[in-house]
Amino acid sequence: MHGLMMNSPLTITSIMKHADRNHPDSEIVSVTVDNPRHRYTYREAFIRTRKLACALSQYGIKPDDRIGTLAWNDYRHFELYYAVSGVGAITHMINPRLSHDQITFIINHAEDRLIFVDPLIVPVLEKIIDAIKNVELFVILTDMAHMPETSLVNVRCYESFIGDGAEDFEWPEFDENTASSLCYTSGTTGNPKGVLYSHRAIVLHSLAEIAPDVFNLSIREVIMPVVPMFHVNAWGIPYAAPIVGAKLVFPGAKMGDGETLQALIEEEGVTLSAGVPTVWLMLLNYLEKSAKTVASLRRVIIGGAACPLSILIDFREKYDVTVHQAWGMTEMTPLGTVNTLKPGMENIPADELNQLKLKQGRFVYGVEMKIIDDDNKEQPWDGLSPGLLKVRGPWISSNYYKKEDDDDTFDKDGWFSTGDIATIDENGFMQITDRSKDVIKSGGEWISSIELENIATGHPTISEAAVIGINHPKWSERPLLIVVLKENEEVGKEELLAWMAGKVPKWWLPDDVLFVDEIPHTATGKIQKTKLRKLFKDYKFPSS
Ligand code: ADP
Repeated sequence: MHGLMMNSPLTITSIMKHADRNHPDSEIVSVTVDNPRHRYTYREAFIRTRKLACALSQYGIKPDDRIGTLAWNDYRHFELYYAVSGVGAITHMINPRLSHDQITFIINHAEDRLIFVDPLIVPVLEKIIDAIKNVELFVILTDMAHMPETSLVNVRCYESFIGDGAEDFEWPEFDENTASSLCYTSGTTGNPKGVLYSHRAIVLHSLAEIAPDVFNLSIREVIMPVVPMFHVNAWGIPYAAPIVGAKLVFPGAKMGDGETLQALIEEEGVTLSAGVPTVWLMLLNYLEKSAKTVASLRRVIIGGAACPLSILIDFREKYDVTVHQAWGMTEMTPLGTVNTLKPGMENIPADELNQLKLKQGRFVYGVEMKIIDDDNKEQPWDGLSPGLLKVRGPWISSNYYKKEDDDDTFDKDGWFSTGDIATIDENGFMQITDRSKDVIKSGGEWISSIELENIATGHPTISEAAVIGINHPKWSERPLLIVVLKENEEVGKEELLAWMAGKVPKWWLPDDVLFVDEIPHTATGKIQKTKLRKLFKDYKFPSS
């Protein structure tokens, strides 16, 4: 027997209609090329979204057409998120920081009909234009007064494009399983893979994200997503914030600029922000140097890569900001876990609490998970037994877009293999110990590179650390620790290793430490271990 409830489709359009009706006065503030502080309300945003949707329909955009965006976090990108999905087409967010080859591959693979591009990113398209196949029109995200000179042909200005549309556009109705948006994983090996989200997945993910032990969102928050809107839906914030009516602050292209972030936080009263560790290292550095503060900021959500302990401690002790680590993947819309404490955990000793907070956190309702060993046997939740992490749930990919090759990423029981090696403790806190391809195998045993990095960044002089496996004649691989020191700090190799001893099994201790000025990062802010391995491929340990 079916229940007697209405079958209202869970669509992105429903989020927009709700926000328009219930939170018309909540603000969206953006930094753009043509305006250092653009400000309007949700009501105004959704009027323009309807105009854009109407203009897209008049242009001839049909359901399922892919519309590319090469844009920063700002109000026009927000309008595209809603208008494109709202007409039944697919918003394809493209990461402008990827290599030109990858961007070309992605645009051609998605067969984008239109591309909406920020003026600052136009030069990227100019370089690859000859290799791009399907794009009919480029719409530059600015007004007529700020249109850049460009060698691109078939170009329009966003403000004039949107000006063609009518405010009273009627949103079409469609099934909640309709595809809404598309995002490619950065593909450190092989070509990028397309993750095709559905309206239903986005809505369920947003509802889960709002919950108190997840992101704890409400109309009282002022949220600044520093995670790019081209990277996994800015972790869902542009969808979740309108549901609750929170004010949104978009830093535009200035996401890597400490001065802009600090000014936005202070002037707009930002209470919550989210982004990858490198952004926070940069902001903390800026605050230290400028002696400025972030008084309104209460919480920061850090994910995408393991969070160095120094960030957690600096935020807490210098700025009274609580850091919550989160873990997820492009294939997971992205949210899987968030590190929020259970009752009583606030009172555990400081060192233990730090270790707990370095874990990636507890699973959000909606995401099922298990860890398995090499024989596919499920591992216990004891915080000690590592295994390959598999997940399943309504906002997790069941396959890649137009997948050409077969792999075992999606198994026949409907589980997605994350490629992460993790432990899960008795309290349900998951901890990533490695990417399966980064784990160091010494004498047949596994050494967790992330755990070593976590310990190293707990040293007061270290700003960032990376550990890679280096070939070793006896042990097959041994760990090499590569560190970046905080400004004006120093520590000797022996002193650092002596400090680390006792914090991990003796045989885990790195065989050598190298001090570098910078550690390379991927386009999505992860330590680029493949590049480090290449850079140090001829490195030999002093003793081997
Ligand atoms: P990509 O496009 O490179 O796949 P994703 O953002 O989807 O980018 O990357 C997901 C991966 O990032 C995860 O599988 C995990 O290895 C890593 N990751 C994400 N969040 C964390 C975290 N909090 N700690 C450690 N690793 C993380």
